[in-house]
Amino acid sequence: MKIIDILNSKKTISFEFFPPKRDSDLPRLYETVDRLSTYNPDFVSFTYGAGGNTRQLTTQVSKEAKLSDKFEVMSHLTCIAHNKTEIINILKNLTLSNIENIIALRGDTPKDMTISKDNLKHATDLIEIIKSNFSNFCIAGACYPEFHPESNNSVDDIKFTKLKQDKGVDFLITQLFFDNKDFLSFKEKAIKNGITIPIIPGILPITSTKQIRRFTKLCGSKIPLKLNEKLENSINNDKETTKLGIEYATNQILELIDNDIPGIHFYSLNKTSSVGHVLNNLGISNQTPEYII
Ligand code: FAD
Repeated sequence: MKIIDILNSKKTISFEFFPPKRDSDLPRLYETVDRLSTYNPDFVSFTYGAGGNTRQLTTQVSKEAKLSDKFEVMSHLTCIAHNKTEIINILKNLTLSNIENIIALRGDTPKDMTISKDNLKHATDLIEIIKSNFSNFCIAGACYPEFHPESNNSVDDIKFTKLKQDKGVDFLITQLFFDNKDFLSFKEKAIKNGITIPIIPGILPITSTKQIRRFTKLCGSKIPLKLNEKLENSINNDKETTKLGIEYATNQILELIDNDIPGIHFYSLNKTSSVGHVLNNLGISNQTPEYII
């Protein structure tokens, strides 16, 4: 089923996973996906080479998850290290695997790879290829409440986000953020500039101070001062950080729910417990089959 059809009928819950580097670690991923599936996600997604991780296994894990028939699946696809022919082949493979949902991304240049001239430059190039060669995909795109680190200014950033909609993106998922004001102000600007498609906030329950500082440095999201001070106190205690992360994500989502969001996308970091705790705090448990925000 196309995710946009789900979004048209209800608020969604989704979980993002990253495929392991080695085939031998696949059973562990499937176990994690299985455990989180008891929370009845509307869809799960699998990254493509994010943070230097593998790109090879994305189609395979997406296919396996789709075969399980427990939830919808969205495959991530980045285009910066591919030319058009390679992209078409990947899309054909996803079609054969019955994958109906793709998040079309540019990606970041992989460290071990040189980019050749015929490689695609922007997510919009990928969206164009999907739209003009395939009719079977619902397409998502990325957006940035604090604006993409390479954007010259917020006007350009919104302009290129709008271009994703114009080229055929059905909905957007945000980069992780910790200050809801950034999301709400981005959403307001987006609407003012003609963006009408759903914008799903991406939420990451923090589990390690050092890790989140590394992530935010890479992706350009900021950690609010007060949260950062608390994180400093538990810099060597991931258990304490995890508790703080669960509490923070719960409060963040409660406030977002009051502001009419179309769903929540969890950056699960392949861990079950934090997301599970947040969902339980929000009143969604194994016993609650339908999550209505
Ligand atoms: P683009 O939309 O191409 O934007 C990149 C920059 O170029 C921005 O500054 C934008 O304003 C500008 N721009 C956009 N279009 C144009 C244009 N047509 N002309 C000129 N400038 C333009 N990375 C991975 O490697 N794998 C993943 O699986 C992955 N999943 C992600 C999922 C989500 C929900 C998000 C938010 C990010 C994800 N990323 C992933 C990270 C993403 O690849 C990076 O943030 C990357 O730097 C930008 O990707 P994009 O698709 O937003 O690029």
